[in-house]
Amino acid sequence: PVILGIETSCDETAAAVVARDEAGAPTILSNVVYSQIDDHAAFGGVVPEISARAHAEALDGIVTAALDEAGVTLSEVSAVAATAGPGLIGGLIVGSVMAKAIAHARGIPFLAVNHLEGHALTPRLTDGLAYPYLMLLVSGGHTQILLVRGLGDYERWGTTIDDALGEAFDKTAKLLGLGHPGGPMVERAAEDGDPKRFSFPRPMLREARLDFSFSGLKTSVRQAAEKNAPVSRQDVSDLAASFQAACADTIADRMDRAFARFRDMLPEIAAPTIAVAGGVAANQTIRHALETAARDAGFTLVAPPFRLCTDNGAMIAYAGLERFEAKMSDPLDTPVRSRWPLDRRAQPVIGYGR
Ligand code: ATP
Ligand code: MG
Ligand code: FE
Repeated sequence: PVILGIETSCDETAAAVVARDEAGAPTILSNVVYSQIDDHAAFGGVVPEISARAHAEALDGIVTAALDEAGVTLSEVSAVAATAGPGLIGGLIVGSVMAKAIAHARGIPFLAVNHLEGHALTPRLTDGLAYPYLMLLVSGGHTQILLVRGLGDYERWGTTIDDALGEAFDKTAKLLGLGHPGGPMVERAAEDGDPKRFSFPRPMLREARLDFSFSGLKTSVRQAAEKNAPVSRQDVSDLAASFQAACADTIADRMDRAFARFRDMLPEIAAPTIAVAGGVAANQTIRHALETAARDAGFTLVAPPFRLCTDNGAMIAYAGLERFEAKMSDPLDTPVRSRWPLDRRAQPVIGYGR
């Protein structure tokens, strides 16, 4: 099968074509991503109304580019998948209406994909990972530990009770005057910083549940910056490095507990794996902490290429491919959902107001 996937849940307008080749391996035929980051830069964050309009303007061209690059015509497409949530409602509507229109016109199935499922299944697309495996999703909007048991079968073991990790990086960058998007800026500033100069809190470290909290950490960075005002370049580097070290320690601690829980629950899995997704997975300090924790626990770390860790259409097309092969499809009156927890319902609610 050949699947067209559309992703418009946040600030990337993306479309991709993914197919299963004769040998049974999934192949990315095209993966076109238009980032709206410049459209929002002046506002220091994503503006929903601007985002929805930008998706509406760009999507037609992005879908055409994805088909052209893949060298397929719409008549060769087996099904169309679109992100139906969670995310910003305007963009979700633009993407799913486009997918439904194509599906209706061609008489092929429409698939409503949960954005988080797209991230969760990416290591199967890139590395052919077998179920079950652990997933750490660290992006601008999410910080979750998931047990991926099978298609549509996910357990959320941990989530953030306040800021997402990427959000914490972005806010820290802003208060240190480092600009947007903050993650890469903080990482660069931290390169010649002393990670031990400030001892920031490692939130929730002694708690048995696997949740995260990053807003207290961000406040501590602000207080330390205020105490040392006016901050020098070296101060900023030391603050960034100390912040990053606290984040890495927190991730390592939570994952230690997740590894132990996985071993308890699934002792029959001899060679367990942990996969990462989300933009923060690009951070070398966090990556290193994760690698060490995984190695110590006997887990193999799978890290897809950065382009497939951040929001993209290929992950939605691939989730659509697995759903199509499992003979699933969604009715054309399937609504989009701004909130859609992955573990509670694998399918969206059918119909409006019913
Ligand atoms: P979501 O996917 O949850 O809807 P999103 O689109 O903001 O949200 P991604 O595109 O996966 O998420 O990742 C963007 C986030 O990753 C931003 O918060 C950014 O600061 C962060 N990030 C990117 N590179 C790095 C880095 N090198 N270090 C730390 N954080 C980073
Ligand atoms: Mg994004
Ligand atoms: Fe995402």
